[in-house]
Amino acid sequence: FQNKQDALYDLPGLNSEGLLGATRFADALTDDARLVMRVLQEAQSDGANILNYCQVDSLITQAGKVGGVNVSDKVSGESYAINARVVVSATGAWADKLRGELGKEKKIRPLRGSHLIFPSWRIPSAQTISMSHPEDGRSVFVYPWEGMTVVGTTDLDNPEADLSEPYIRKEEVQYLLHGVNHLYPGLKLSTSDVISSFAGVRPIVSSGGGLNPSSEKRDHSIWDDNGLVTVSGGKLTTFRLIALDVLTAANHYLKQIDGRDHGRPIFNQVKELPGSVKNLGAYWSRRLSGFYGKDVWHLSECAQGDWSLVPGSNTFWAQLVFSARCENVVHLDDLLLRRTRIGLFLRGGGIAYHDRIKGICQQELNWSDTQWQDEWSRYQELWKHSYSIPTP
Ligand SMILES: Cc1cc2nc3c(=O)[nH]c(=O)nc-3n(C[C@H](O)[C@H](O)[C@H](O)COP(=O)(O)OP(=O)(O)OC[C@H]3O[C@@H](n4cnc5c(N)ncnc54)[C@H](O)[C@@H]3O)c2cc1C
Repeated sequence: FQNKQDALYDLPGLNSEGLLGATRFADALTDDARLVMRVLQEAQSDGANILNYCQVDSLITQAGKVGGVNVSDKVSGESYAINARVVVSATGAWADKLRGELGKEKKIRPLRGSHLIFPSWRIPSAQTISMSHPEDGRSVFVYPWEGMTVVGTTDLDNPEADLSEPYIRKEEVQYLLHGVNHLYPGLKLSTSDVISSFAGVRPIVSSGGGLNPSSEKRDHSIWDDNGLVTVSGGKLTTFRLIALDVLTAANHYLKQIDGRDHGRPIFNQVKELPGSVKNLGAYWSRRLSGFYGKDVWHLSECAQGDWSLVPGSNTFWAQLVFSARCENVVHLDDLLLRRTRIGLFLRGGGIAYHDRIKGICQQELNWSDTQWQDEWSRYQELWKHSYSIPTP
């Protein structure tokens, strides 16, 4: 516990009205997209086949037992069947769809959480703050992330039709601004301070009791339906434990998988770093080896000694080159929103760096001028829809 004076020292500008003090707790911070990429990279090294832009259209069943999936490739337009002894569906908020084919009742309540991103100088917060929102008492966080300050989240039912590209609504913008202005009244933040927004849909396993969204449990659930193992709900923090539970369920069909942890580290250790990465110092070495694992060597080759940052971000230009060259980028939004996150950190999604980004894409992805124009238009449209803030 910190008394009021210490809390105000750590969190200058905090609303001191009625403040008794603050309590401190520890949690983890990650870049969720890089975490997923690292898991995929290591899975691939261990023999997994990874298919990008492929959609599971339906299950293959024989005598009531699931024996594979029908898949369509959204890039080539091809469709094919994949047979398997067990199918694991980790389809988040969409999990009911495949289970529905087996006549199972709906379990998922998709709840949207939206965030606002501000430049860090506008909300200079060195620590994460969890506050009770003045309107409803929900916990809302203000936290430093990737050199920016993020305010979030909300917790609202999300229509099924809007699952694929969720976006923040006007009321959520006002709710989050109200919360952060209550916390830091002197900052007088407004929509013009917001750089971008993002929203995600939590796959909450519904109690079915019509609870207030924030009262629904966040635990994960696993259902085993005759060869279809579905996992949904849960937290990113516990992804490894969830995966081990899935392996235990899948073992029923495979009989050869060890679903125990044995205390092993989550990721393979990167034993040696390239000299040019080491020279960046301890902070960047740790960050880049965490993001890229053994691929940090390829990253270093892509940099060719140029470790300049995209201005206004913690991202090296070399990371864009590496992702375009090595990380299955199909569309521009893959590169700017899901391999790197610079689309979130730069005004207008990075419009000021249009020419340099175009140069990287044309060089690494062999895009023609027409292809670039199509990709840029697609990206701008997506950014306006799901990553900007709605116009009042
Ligand atoms: C707003 C918000 C805040 C959160 N905050 C935290 C937090 O603070 N701490 C924490 O630990 N966790 C947090 N989480 C939870 C965390 O993000 C989730 O636990 C995690 O994303 C679940 O991962 P998943 O892979 O199960 O599902 P998802 O990330 O939803 O991924 C499911 C994937 O399946 C794909 N898919 C669906 N149907 C098909 C199909 N038919 N064929 C092919 N692909 C398909 C989708 O495109 C999607 O990419 C938060 C989530 C949200 C939305």
